[in-house]
Amino acid sequence: MDFVNATPPNTEVSWERLIQFLSSTDIVSPERGAQLLNLPQSDPRAAEALLLKARRLSFALRKVFTAMLRKQRTAGEWIEPVNEILRITEGHDELVGQDGLWKIEFVARGGGLDWLLAAVARSGAEIIAEGAHARLRLCANVHCGLFFYDNSRTRRRRWCSMAVCGNRSKVAAFARKHASGRTAL
Ligand SMILES: [Zn+2]
Repeated sequence: MDFVNATPPNTEVSWERLIQFLSSTDIVSPERGAQLLNLPQSDPRAAEALLLKARRLSFALRKVFTAMLRKQRTAGEWIEPVNEILRITEGHDELVGQDGLWKIEFVARGGGLDWLLAAVARSGAEIIAEGAHARLRLCANVHCGLFFYDNSRTRRRRWCSMAVCGNRSKVAAFARKHASGRTAL
């Protein structure tokens, strides 16, 4: 979901953006991220191939998520780019300790660059498999377009972030009230 948010449809997914995303989500270490930034120079073919897969994956996930939110059927071919990544990435899950908590992390067998997208494909697949029960939501701010995961107890969260879109909506509502109050006078 974060990957889809980080790669909006109106902007081209650039290599820098992709690597920045992988670094910010700890899919790659800062050192590996720095190495990868040079890949288009050292191995342009490999970089281009991965970028193409990343764009396909982003496009597919957005399409499926949008269909899910609209309660529409998801066509098998939309899912294919996700399965394509899942199919080629061999590896296993492992429990990794962090600050006294355990989380499940995907450990790739290595080789090739496709594993870089494995965690994204896996996480996207989990949301898709949740189907109608998924807590996936689209921000109520029509100008925002971000997906978010509703973990609230009431499951009635409307904004990607209360601080950004929630607040903006409150301010707008206040301004509207204020304006109508003035016209009434
Ligand atoms: Zn928002």
